[in-house]
Amino acid sequence: MDLSFTPEEQKFREDIRAWVKDNLPQEISHKVHNALELTRDDMQRWAKILGKKGWLGYGWPTEFGGPGWTAIQRHLFEEETALAGAPRIVPFGPVMVAPVIQAFGNAEQQKRFLPGIASGEVWWSQGYSEPGSGSDLASVKTKAERQGDKYIVNGQKTWTTLGQYGDWMFNLVRTSNEGKPQTGISFLLLDMKSPGVTVRPIKLLDGSHEVNEVWFDNVEVPAENLIGEENKGWTYAKHLLSHERTNIADVNRAKRELERLKRIARSEGVWDDVRFRDEIARLEVDVVALEMLVLRVLSAASSGKNSLDIAGLLKIKGSEIQQRYSELMMLAGGPYSLPLVREAMAAGWQGNFPGGNPALAPLSSTFFNMRKTTIYGGSNEVQRNIVAQTVLG
Ligand SMILES: Cc1cc2nc3c(=O)[nH]c(=O)nc-3n(C[C@H](O)[C@H](O)[C@H](O)COP(=O)(O)OP(=O)(O)OC[C@H]3O[C@@H](n4cnc5c(N)ncnc54)[C@H](O)[C@@H]3O)c2cc1C
Repeated sequence: MDLSFTPEEQKFREDIRAWVKDNLPQEISHKVHNALELTRDDMQRWAKILGKKGWLGYGWPTEFGGPGWTAIQRHLFEEETALAGAPRIVPFGPVMVAPVIQAFGNAEQQKRFLPGIASGEVWWSQGYSEPGSGSDLASVKTKAERQGDKYIVNGQKTWTTLGQYGDWMFNLVRTSNEGKPQTGISFLLLDMKSPGVTVRPIKLLDGSHEVNEVWFDNVEVPAENLIGEENKGWTYAKHLLSHERTNIADVNRAKRELERLKRIARSEGVWDDVRFRDEIARLEVDVVALEMLVLRVLSAASSGKNSLDIAGLLKIKGSEIQQRYSELMMLAGGPYSLPLVREAMAAGWQGNFPGGNPALAPLSSTFFNMRKTTIYGGSNEVQRNIVAQTVLG
């Protein structure tokens, strides 16, 4: 297995780097490098810049207007954008639902939905989880009843990330109670502006608004918004989840955050403590090991082998690394990491942060926020079960 890049791939990397340097707004990369708050406009502005270039759907094949890049090229694009301080692409449209529409949607659906995703104009949300149906996703209860040429949807989704901005939502809905729970699920696209849809915020510990509850009260959804066949939604859902878990590993963001950790350790003086540097070195070894694992997956993918069976492993390791760097940043800042001053997390804040180093302002919020990484996208305990079954047999 050859893990080094070819001269063409190196050239590709340089081209991406040059383009990102010219096109990523500096005020956005400043926020990302310093973990300051990103607004909806920041996220969508970058999405539209990528969309204009034809790169928001950077994993898409050319037949759907994507660049048709290889797995290695996609990795290089992700790495260059992350290291330059680009916001993470909000995955629900381009990374999650688009591959499902491409693989299982009909021509009409592809024509209708893919352009808005590719351009970054339309914001999508993920409607999988419900109260009581997270790990046990096949138990979803939100009901869609067919009445003529439409479905009537009733029920509740939860933990809907950034659903407050959502234009459209892809949902797992129950269309049958016959047989195994998996065989009665359908995959439905729902316009969030429809009458009967209510989005309520779930306030987080740090006061921020990132996740939501979404309620459906007799929401009418045209039957033409059903993806594939009725009661076959579980197959499409699994196709999507494998993309979600690879995406969550986020090794390139880990590399960028490692540099931020080193900056904070230096500015707080703990860099001089050899035991603290040991901790950073240990984390760096883990990040390099994760990168090697990602490259092995990519190398396998380019030689035609199925790589997604270890997606769960990437998710487990990547999420643990994300939690670890947020912990080490807290330790580096000591007691001054603890105060939560929300205003200090907005770009341009001029107040006095306790202890005097405003770089510490986002740390406690990031620390708590990162607890989610071992839960969402399928909890790590459940991923371990899946890895045990698929890899170890
Ligand atoms: C910040 C955040 C954002 C999210 N965003 C979205 C979103 O946009 N859309 C969406 O649909 N969902 C979203 N989710 C939901 C997420 O996918 C679920 O939280 C996750 O699947 C876990 O389900 P649960 O919360 O119901 O926990 P539960 O399934 O109730 O699990 C509780 C605990 O039991 C453990 N457990 C459960 N089953 C087993 C088992 N078989 N073996 C061993 N341990 C087990 C779990 O690991 C966990 O520790 C988000 C979650 C979070 C935290």
